[in-house]
Amino acid sequence: MGESELRIRGFMPRTDEHNRLSQWIIALREFLPTIKPRLRDRYIPLHETPTLAWHYPEIKYTTYLLAALVMIWLVRFAIVLIQPGPPESFKPQATTADFQVFCTNPQCPSHDQLFVIHREFGFHGFPVECPVCKKLTGLRALKCFSPTCNGKLIPARYENSHWVCTVCGQVFPRN
Ligand SMILES: [Zn+2]
Ligand SMILES: [Zn+2]
Repeated sequence: MGESELRIRGFMPRTDEHNRLSQWIIALREFLPTIKPRLRDRYIPLHETPTLAWHYPEIKYTTYLLAALVMIWLVRFAIVLIQPGPPESFKPQATTADFQVFCTNPQCPSHDQLFVIHREFGFHGFPVECPVCKKLTGLRALKCFSPTCNGKLIPARYENSHWVCTVCGQVFPRN
């Protein structure tokens, strides 16, 4: 239905600039009761022949839109399904740790200095190679709180599933 036709029927406001808002309200009030019969007229053929639905653009494009939304939802669902567990960056934090290491070789230039190695959690394959003297003299450094060691970092041995202070012989709780 063209604009001029609407205007003749009184559904559209005339373009008098005077008091436009009230004209719109009047036009709307006249227009509203006609919506239902118009819709009825429009969809009568559809009621008789449902296969005509595709000739109605509003039905067609609404269907396209819904199909697109369903596709997006399916793709998101598929991505969630194929994603492997927690992100890769999460795993090393949970299963590996930094270990402080003493070189116990008296001839080493970095004797009694600390270096750090990164191994899986619970690693106890000491001694490890010293990065300076390249000898297998790296022992794990732990703080020993015995009266003798008094909280100092000491080289520890791994014996019978426990760490043992090489200075005073104190056995550490399992760690
Ligand atoms: Zn060394
Ligand atoms: Zn000690």
